[in-house]
Amino acid sequence: MTVLACGVCRTDLHVVDGDLPSPAIPIIPGHEIVGRVDRVGSGVNGFAPGDRVGIPWLGYSCGHCEYCRTDRENLCRSARYTGYQIDGGYAEQAIADARFCFHLPPGYDDEHAAPLLCAGLIGYRAYRMAGDAWRLGIYGFGAAAHIIAQVAVQQGREVYAFVTPGDSTAADFARSVGASWAGWSTDAPPAALDAAIIFAPVGRLVPEALSRTRPGGVVVCAGIHMSDIPSFPYKLLWEERVVRSVANLTRADAHEFLALVGDIVIKTTVKPYPLREANAALDDLRSGRLTGAAVLVPSP
Ligand SMILES: [Zn+2]
Ligand SMILES: [Zn+2]
Repeated sequence: MTVLACGVCRTDLHVVDGDLPSPAIPIIPGHEIVGRVDRVGSGVNGFAPGDRVGIPWLGYSCGHCEYCRTDRENLCRSARYTGYQIDGGYAEQAIADARFCFHLPPGYDDEHAAPLLCAGLIGYRAYRMAGDAWRLGIYGFGAAAHIIAQVAVQQGREVYAFVTPGDSTAADFARSVGASWAGWSTDAPPAALDAAIIFAPVGRLVPEALSRTRPGGVVVCAGIHMSDIPSFPYKLLWEERVVRSVANLTRADAHEFLALVGDIVIKTTVKPYPLREANAALDDLRSGRLTGAAVLVPSP
């Protein structure tokens, strides 16, 4: 397919920095690909040349292991991931397994659709793991948070945004997409949280978030990589609080999320970069200079 746009995700930084085990090297990063189908292989159903498609992080799962047979292909031991073990979308052309591609909702242009494919999709899996929390805390307000906050608010929840101390741009951004409160990650929110999602790859936020969560609450760690979690007193976990991680996505997650954001339109905030500026986009993400999501657009 021809790549129309490709989102830049924090996981790409972890791939480029060598934080993750067993990448394919050399590898073309990028797993938020919006493409136009040029050709389909024999036996492909559901896609035809000219279709716009989205390609997410999960590029392959085996289909027959214990995890795949129990709706947990996100944990498949033989899974392979786009932009990590399968060449991704920092490119003008890409090849994907049609069984792991998706039609995209029409209400989003290519650049604005790209962040839905990881920030949105894996963010949504983390959001589901937060259960029916009414007061939802979000630590780290980047691409995933700005999508999930809008979903949460449209579903009648209250969003409490926690950003790096001093980053008033991020706090303003959080309020602009519906957060009812935004403050520093070291601050106490005005009310105890029912659940918290941690998008920032910062382990010390785990005890921090637990300390802000009420009994029975859950803290969801949504990143693929996190710095070490410091030890903390048991009383922070006591009273049936839960800490859990979220790994990857299933195709069912993608179908559910893409249908949802077809019905309720989310405004993704994107900063386009020409493909040749991919390293600048990664640097901006690393240094926290971005508001929303960076998206690479191949030059015409
Ligand atoms: Zn499997
Ligand atoms: Zn990602």
